[in-house]
Amino acid sequence: MITAYHRPQTLDEALTLLTRPNVLPLGGGTLLSKPTAESIEVADLQALGLDTVKKNGNTLELGAALTLQSLLESEHCPPALKSALKLEAPLNIRNSATLAGTLIACDGRSTFASVLLALDAKLTVTSKQNGEETLNIGDLLPLREQVRGKLITKIVIPLTVKLAFDYVSRTPADKPIVCAALAQWNSGRTRLALGGYGKSPILAMDGTEAEGIESAVKNAFHEANDEWASAEYRMDAAATLVKRCLAS
Ligand SMILES: Cc1cc2nc3c(=O)[nH]c(=O)nc-3n(C[C@H](O)[C@H](O)[C@H](O)COP(=O)(O)OP(=O)(O)OC[C@H]3O[C@@H](n4cnc5c(N)ncnc54)[C@H](O)[C@@H]3O)c2cc1C
Repeated sequence: MITAYHRPQTLDEALTLLTRPNVLPLGGGTLLSKPTAESIEVADLQALGLDTVKKNGNTLELGAALTLQSLLESEHCPPALKSALKLEAPLNIRNSATLAGTLIACDGRSTFASVLLALDAKLTVTSKQNGEETLNIGDLLPLREQVRGKLITKIVIPLTVKLAFDYVSRTPADKPIVCAALAQWNSGRTRLALGGYGKSPILAMDGTEAEGIESAVKNAFHEANDEWASAEYRMDAAATLVKRCLAS
């Protein structure tokens, strides 16, 4: 239950509030506003100007409080990321939910987090104690509880990569049973992220070329059994999705 609402006007004010153990950042509030047994206070981020999209050379700098829909509508958003954003949540939620709130709250079925993992997104995490730190998304996802007391302020993704995304789901607009996001740099570096299972998307491969990608898929999903699908199904489906990504 939210017991107090704060609207800090500066980043410093927000970080000071977050030094208190029961204060959490409020992004879109789509998850935080759900009733819980825990008493929390929230620091609303909307006055901090963290909702910008800025192309900076070969990268795109995204404010952490940008909504999913604003990113989807940005002219700079890569088409494959747009497809993933459309699947992340329906329009009404996309209009409120923020990028950072989504990354903190998501599970392995998150298409947005899967694409950001393939892109090796860098996050700026700020706190009173440690100042500004840069985290790779692959380091953040398994340790999200450690972000408590800190604020994600910025997310940076590369623009000069080839990016492909594909998925299998029960209906076209449903969360994926399996999704694959493939990013390839000019150098040949290839990153494959697989989603649709578990607590967060899995980085199946980060190599200097696409060689060995099929065995990477099998290794990543060999225990991926749940109520939606067997590991065998996921391994087969992911192998097909990866072929499609490579072909596109
Ligand atoms: C009815 C309903 C049910 C849902 N159920 C689920 C569910 O069960 N599982 C799920 O994964 N998603 C669920 N969602 C989706 C959830 O709304 C999304 O994950 C959403 O994208 C969260 O974004 P937000 O900006 O609204 O986050 P908020 O609700 O504002 O915050 C979510 C978490 O992120 C933290 N946070 C927000 N911004 C920052 C920041 N800048 N830095 C650090 N931490 C931050 C908050 O403190 C909080 O812990 C549900 C949505 C709805 C409407």
